[in-house]
Amino acid sequence: MKASITHDNKLDLLRSIEIFQLLPEKKLEDLVDECREITMNFGEVLFKEGDVGETMYVVLSGELNVENENSVIAMRGRGEYVGEMTLIENQPRTATVKAAIETCLLEIHKDQFLTHFASNPQALMSLLKTGSHRSRENLKALDQGMKILKAQKKVNSDLHHLLDDTTNEIYIFDAEFYHFFNLNSRAIKNLGYESNETVKMMPFDVMSGMTQEKFEELVRPLRSNTVEEVVFNGFHRRKDGSTYPVEIRFKYQETETPPVFIGMAQDISKIKELEHINDSLIFFDDLTGLPNKHLILKELNSELLRAKMENKSVAVLLMDLDDFKIINDSMGHTVGDNLLKGVAERIKDWSSSNCRLAKYGGDEFIIIISKIKHEVQVEHKATSLLKLFNEPFQVNGQPVHIGLSIGISSYPSDGRDGSALLKNADTAMNVAKSNGKNQYCHFNSSMETHAKNRLTLEGDLRKALVQNEFALYYQPKLELDSETIIGFEALIRWNHPTRGLVSPLDFIPMAEKTKLIIPMGEWVLRTACEQIKTWLDTGLSIQNIAVNISPCQFGQSDLVSMIQNIIQETGIHPENLELEITESVLMEDAKSATIQLKQLSAIGIKLSIDDFGTGYSSLSYLNNFPLNNLKIDRAFVKDITCEEDASLTKAIVGMAKALNLKTIAEGVETKEQKEVLRSIGADIIQGYLLSKPIPAEEATKLLSCP
Ligand code: C2E
Ligand code: MG
Ligand code: MG
Repeated sequence: MKASITHDNKLDLLRSIEIFQLLPEKKLEDLVDECREITMNFGEVLFKEGDVGETMYVVLSGELNVENENSVIAMRGRGEYVGEMTLIENQPRTATVKAAIETCLLEIHKDQFLTHFASNPQALMSLLKTGSHRSRENLKALDQGMKILKAQKKVNSDLHHLLDDTTNEIYIFDAEFYHFFNLNSRAIKNLGYESNETVKMMPFDVMSGMTQEKFEELVRPLRSNTVEEVVFNGFHRRKDGSTYPVEIRFKYQETETPPVFIGMAQDISKIKELEHINDSLIFFDDLTGLPNKHLILKELNSELLRAKMENKSVAVLLMDLDDFKIINDSMGHTVGDNLLKGVAERIKDWSSSNCRLAKYGGDEFIIIISKIKHEVQVEHKATSLLKLFNEPFQVNGQPVHIGLSIGISSYPSDGRDGSALLKNADTAMNVAKSNGKNQYCHFNSSMETHAKNRLTLEGDLRKALVQNEFALYYQPKLELDSETIIGFEALIRWNHPTRGLVSPLDFIPMAEKTKLIIPMGEWVLRTACEQIKTWLDTGLSIQNIAVNISPCQFGQSDLVSMIQNIIQETGIHPENLELEITESVLMEDAKSATIQLKQLSAIGIKLSIDDFGTGYSSLSYLNNFPLNNLKIDRAFVKDITCEEDASLTKAIVGMAKALNLKTIAEGVETKEQKEVLRSIGADIIQGYLLSKPIPAEEATKLLSCP
């Protein structure tokens, strides 16, 4: 009669078994669907001792006897399993297993097992560790066996069977002198002794680093009956001196005469090895369940081989979520994690059969598209991927918007091996980011040159300060009322030995990224202050020099004291110095910046908001800071002669006045612009109309003969 066990029953049963609990529900269902169910009649043999098999069996109903030389040494009932160690360790079966009654089993073959467990290394590990769980069971069986056998006075031969029916090492030794009574064959084999050599030996002879005192300390709780079992993790030492890691469980048998300790050791080298090579074993991302970098790189290589043979093209799409860090930091890691899961799901649902998706890094995903006939297919894919992100993700009950930047490289045009394709896709992705994010970008060789140039530029920048390659230029500021030059803005220039003059727009961002802006900013301040001193000492009339301060410099706790020192050392008045800061300084870390700005203002230094209108452009909060001037960005000056633009700029000037701020208009290039600015009430102008930024000598001339 065939036992009728429903799919759901089987599922429940697997769920109740510890190792299967580690598998996702979907995989459990697959396992139940795929695996054969077998029914055994009473007495039928499942496998014999010494057999080699690659299958484990889960008991769905009925009962199995685990036998050794015709003695039953253990039983396995519903929800228990047999044969798992063989599956993993490839060792012959250590016992004979027969049906005790009519029994129904789920047969899980090694291949099925690995398909489902390989994606979950924890499950694999846990299964390996069940060895120790089985040890506990063996110990119980051993206890019982000893009692029964003693009663039957058949101690010697049968005890051997019991001891030998296990992949664990077992040793029994007397509790007074610690001499071994018995070692099972596995222990003798593993330790590399002959059985007659172990007679006078003690457990600490085989436990690396163990002494009698330490051992007594270890087993004291057993003697005092406070625990039933003591577990020790350490090393066994073989006869030849080599060691291997073991987990040993000790029990105390006080009722024996004489009382004995039983040690049951499991060689855990495999587990340790597995832990060691864990990284290479883990092919899947824990959070999203997607293949990880490791696996996708293997797949990319085999995909490239196939493409080579079939003369097809392969595309690599490297994707990075835009501003994920901001979401993660501001909304918390749970939201971040759930967002990543949502993104993974959405892309997975979108993927077609020629796409392989993987999680590449923290917030990076990768898709390999194979069998491409035309480039345009890839562009279509990239466009539709971007569209996926139009809709927000529902994360923890709230909608979260996020964009995606995609870098694309194709085989064979952009690289012939995996690493070249990935590198180039990464370069293209960075270009997509710097072009404004939420877009895709196909690699081309000029990007590579650009990336290389940037790298060399970064190296050169590090040397520039030491080699005195920087110069400070000065651009005059004109007060409209008095029509006089009241000061200059100091602007850095880099005289590159081979490239010539490099624009600050090209190297300031790099200097900020590499923190070189700190010493560079200090050099600018010192040079500017020395210049004012020179001008004032030679009797030239000038109110101040404005120096640009990068937001990075506000991150430095000693900014205020550094500026103070320079003022003191150069002997100028604080009012001679103006600092230009951008709105981002006020917005990003308002609290610490406020303190620093208040200190600077208290000293008497003038403060200006630079490039107003290009950032947050909120006038209301400016009130919270001790500012003196507002520099209107040249974008608001450019078309000021057109009425509409003039009214916008007029509004800014008006509001600045209300906040008691003087306005400095940047980028004034024509007389017309100057006159409109005068008419709407701007105070100061700066721009090519007066002069481009010029070296100190030229600026001196300008001051001397206006
Ligand atoms: P910024 O502070 O807004 O400086 C004004 C920029 O506008 C300067 O560019 C200047 O040459 C340019 N400019 C001035 N008048 C006109 C004009 O009439 N028409 C046009 N089209 N442009 C004009 P520059 O010198 O290339 O500096 C660019 C930016 O680099 C500066 O913008 C500033 O943010 C930064 N920078 C320059 N020197 C330093 C420095 O020493 N430290 C820091 N942290 N940043 C600096
Ligand atoms: Mg400026
Ligand atoms: Mg500016």
